[in-house]
Amino acid sequence: LNKDIATPLRTKEILEKYGFESKKSLGQNFLIDLNILHNIVRAAAITNETGVIEVGPGIGALTEQLAKQAKKVVSFEIDQRLLPVLEDTLSSYQNIDIVHSDVLKVDLHRYIAEHFQDVNDVMVVANLPYYVTTPILMKLLEEKLPIRGIVVMIQAEVADRIAAKPGTKDYGALSIAAQYFAKAEKVMTVPGSVFIPQPRVDSAVLRLTVREKPPVELIDEAFFFRVFHASFANRRKTLLNNLTHNLLSKAEKEIIEDVLIDIQIDPRRRGETLSLEEFALLSNALYKRVM
Ligand code: SAM
Repeated sequence: LNKDIATPLRTKEILEKYGFESKKSLGQNFLIDLNILHNIVRAAAITNETGVIEVGPGIGALTEQLAKQAKKVVSFEIDQRLLPVLEDTLSSYQNIDIVHSDVLKVDLHRYIAEHFQDVNDVMVVANLPYYVTTPILMKLLEEKLPIRGIVVMIQAEVADRIAAKPGTKDYGALSIAAQYFAKAEKVMTVPGSVFIPQPRVDSAVLRLTVREKPPVELIDEAFFFRVFHASFANRRKTLLNNLTHNLLSKAEKEIIEDVLIDIQIDPRRRGETLSLEEFALLSNALYKRVM
């Protein structure tokens, strides 16, 4: 077998051999630290029964470490220039499929059904391109894929927002959206020095463990999403004002106030103080009155 891809020396050799220039616009920051990769793989609890979906293999640093532990890896890469590189660097692994696609445009249900027929345990693992972190994570969660969880390297600031608790400065619509679908944990923070080129922001490994059933009962899931998004539209406004201006209309202000008092949530509170459970209560009560 070849030497591991994820060392500074080997990565530079590969990039030079192909005259490859990283594109910032595609979030191309390659991992060069085996220790970090081992931590990512361990955090995902990958076994030889696991099927892994990877987003953005780059030159294959993480893909290789995943393939060593997993039953199979299916990896989506948008940049055509990387296909011959990957063909070369991953040539000794038989359990990797590279798919040349924008992950945001693929039907992941179909890929899982077709590629993981013989697999009961599916994980998504990636060092994500930072310019599309949130859309990728929300796609993975909202599509309700048959996966156990997601372990990703992302911007530390986004990891903090996703894992945030009510009443903290990081808590917002993204926290609730993610925590509705999954249990969120920041596994570790990671310095820029483990990437080539180094990203401008700090990074962190985030683990999302997908919930088997939703943590709250909702009359209408889409309405719940509208309610908490509206509640955070202007962080300085009260719940009542945000809901009046961003969910319903001025004419319905009294109804909203009435509903809030009825469910014992002070209309003067701010969205950032409400728990997921309180947003569920609020969305169900409002739905009954106005929809
Ligand atoms: N996994 C490699 C590593 O850890 O060294 C590379 C990670 S790099 C941060 C992100 C990778 O995602 C790049 O290879 C980039 O070309 C790819 N990428 C960017 N946007 C993508 C998209 N929409 N769909 C699939 N891959 C994408």
